[in-house]
Amino acid sequence: MSDRHHHHQHHDHDDDRPRAHDAPLSDVELRVRALESLLVDKGLVDRAALDALVDTYETKVGPRNGARIVARAWIDPEFRRRLLENATEAIAELGYIGRQGEDMVALENTRDVHNMVVCTLCSCYPWPVLGLPPVWYKSAPYRSRAVIDPRGVLREFGVDVGADVEVRIWDSTAELRYLVLPERPPGTEGMSEEELAALVTRDAMIGVAKVPSPAPPSARGAKR
Ligand code: FE
Repeated sequence: MSDRHHHHQHHDHDDDRPRAHDAPLSDVELRVRALESLLVDKGLVDRAALDALVDTYETKVGPRNGARIVARAWIDPEFRRRLLENATEAIAELGYIGRQGEDMVALENTRDVHNMVVCTLCSCYPWPVLGLPPVWYKSAPYRSRAVIDPRGVLREFGVDVGADVEVRIWDSTAELRYLVLPERPPGTEGMSEEELAALVTRDAMIGVAKVPSPAPPSARGAKR
């Protein structure tokens, strides 16, 4: 059995350990859990330190992959075209492949369309490009309200989507995972791919945030 089960078959798995929902734990996962318990029990590892490590993958390392994809798409029209046509292949060009990212779709946010991603049944999420899903993404309120009241949810995230903008909600499944290609903000002309990638946030790639314009050069200089 693979972990690419049908979405409507899964059950609640709201423990906060990200894994392929109802798939049985793999041998490696079982070993990791056993090791973790043992290390914590023996006082060799601090659970808080482990949590910090998970947070790193959740908020820093993981989403940086997606940010590089977005930045590349912003500066390279040919890559952007390939990304929108076949996201799995375009993303693999940058080496981001693996479990929970086998079938990717990129959604382009524009002046007229705002895309937002949810998994209404559990927590399907594109691991290779975004890392581990944030807790709120897995929460029941987000999963239901994103569909019922997307504009309200977006407002709570600080995003005001104009009445003339169409909001599209995409329900992730075990078969398809989505990456939002956010709008390139004004004031980024002439920035390098790396500088652009640094602006892109995880939330913007889920579609619950916009990418902010960079601080003006004077402010950036002052921060150093
Ligand atoms: Fe799911």
